[in-house]
Amino acid sequence: MTAPNYFAGNARVNVGRIQVTTLLDGWLSLDGGAMYGVVPKTLWSQKLPADDQNRVGMAMRPLLVRTPSNLVVVESGIGQAVPPELHERYGIDRTGPWLDELVRNAGEDPEKVDTVVCTHLHWDHAGGLCRMIDDAYRPTFPNAQHVFQAGEWQIATNPTNLHKASYAPPSLLPLAEHGLLKLVSGDCEVVPGVRFEFTNGHTENHAVVWLQDSGESGAFLGDLVPTASHVPLAWISAYDINAGGSWRARESLYPKLAQANAKVFYYHEPEFPVGRVIRDGTRYRHSGLT
Ligand SMILES: [Zn+2]
Repeated sequence: MTAPNYFAGNARVNVGRIQVTTLLDGWLSLDGGAMYGVVPKTLWSQKLPADDQNRVGMAMRPLLVRTPSNLVVVESGIGQAVPPELHERYGIDRTGPWLDELVRNAGEDPEKVDTVVCTHLHWDHAGGLCRMIDDAYRPTFPNAQHVFQAGEWQIATNPTNLHKASYAPPSLLPLAEHGLLKLVSGDCEVVPGVRFEFTNGHTENHAVVWLQDSGESGAFLGDLVPTASHVPLAWISAYDINAGGSWRARESLYPKLAQANAKVFYYHEPEFPVGRVIRDGTRYRHSGLT
């Protein structure tokens, strides 16, 4: 990753008493036309520059979330789910520490992570849930309950031809074998201060993750809004399995984000891992935290 302005650090912000640290699992580059759907290149290339293969560079930023009662990881990075021979195709730059080491570097014992939550289980979000040790995948957080939408787990572990390029079942199944799964359906509390809001859109069972404490709010938007440049309502990725569902979810979610003055966390954003979604006349746009 050669772009000079991309943020390779860890942002630390509070949501009430909840402490959030953005981790950096690595980088990937995907076709800009696919990432921005119907938006013409003349517009999106002003936000993220295309490389010589028309790809835009993006980060993968799981969260480490310390609430007063729980130690939570949101999303898991790409881990080892994509074989190295495919890294060039997707522009994957995955040379840093593995997720458990990222958590340790941020000051927490991975064995003490008690909850893992994912917006969806595509390989660039769920590939780090298990780690390859001696040719076998083992849970990265062996003492954590892994809370996923049940429909997402079903599709991820039994993908049809429509889905199989997006999921890596061998990197997921050990979670069930180790009894670490908690499958839920729809909106629900994950642990106190952390809850799912079901959205559909990017996948059939995509859900965003709200953080709430002491009257303050945060929201991890997963791939409903992968980068800050995707905030405008129509800037919906062609990777979304249901673009209309993404549109409706954004129309429902944005007023709540603005009303709550929520800090929003963008998983794939290369420069601004945290910001806000604010109303600007009849539209919504990304803003910095200040
Ligand atoms: Zn993604």
